[in-house]
Amino acid sequence: MELACLDLEGVLVPEIWIEFAKRTGIEELKATTRDIPDYDVLMKQRLRILDEHGLKLADIQDVIATMKPLDGAKEFLDWLRERFQLVILSDTFYEFAMPLMKQLGYPALLCHKLEVDETGRVVDYKLRQKDPKRQSVKAFHGLNMRCIAAGDSYNDTTMLAEADAGILFHAPANVIAEFPQFPAVHDYEALKKEFIKASNRDISL
Ligand SMILES: [Mg+2]
Repeated sequence: MELACLDLEGVLVPEIWIEFAKRTGIEELKATTRDIPDYDVLMKQRLRILDEHGLKLADIQDVIATMKPLDGAKEFLDWLRERFQLVILSDTFYEFAMPLMKQLGYPALLCHKLEVDETGRVVDYKLRQKDPKRQSVKAFHGLNMRCIAAGDSYNDTTMLAEADAGILFHAPANVIAEFPQFPAVHDYEALKKEFIKASNRDISL
């Protein structure tokens, strides 16, 4: 069986923290792992900023609920699910992703978890495991699944390398240049064609 492993942010939905920063006007929340490479330092900073603005989980979810998947994402997923098994491998949090997953028809999602206190304040976060996307592909291989993975950024590259085929989608120029071994495409029609190419079955568009 063939399994499509898809990144979420940048592939199917906008970058959640950047979109949230835009909606709330909180400039400091626009920082990403490109600005602060240490993910723990970055997350601690984000949680501190949320506290400073008195933002609780429900406030964040309200904003996220008004976000939409990228144009064509839902149609692409519908196409994919008729032809492949599907799992979303993401570095976001279940508590953030659910309003967006609803709009995508609740595909299977493996990501991380937030810790929230009784007042709804986000106090900490729990990573599911280290190098989670790559470890997931390894585990699926153990289940005899052939994996075709697509993602847009550095945090996807170990998953793309571990998969039987890896595809860069919507990736910035520096990532494409650094990982020339992966085909790079920028729209869903081209991504469908890459999935067909990567498949070991005879699939039609
Ligand atoms: Mg991404």
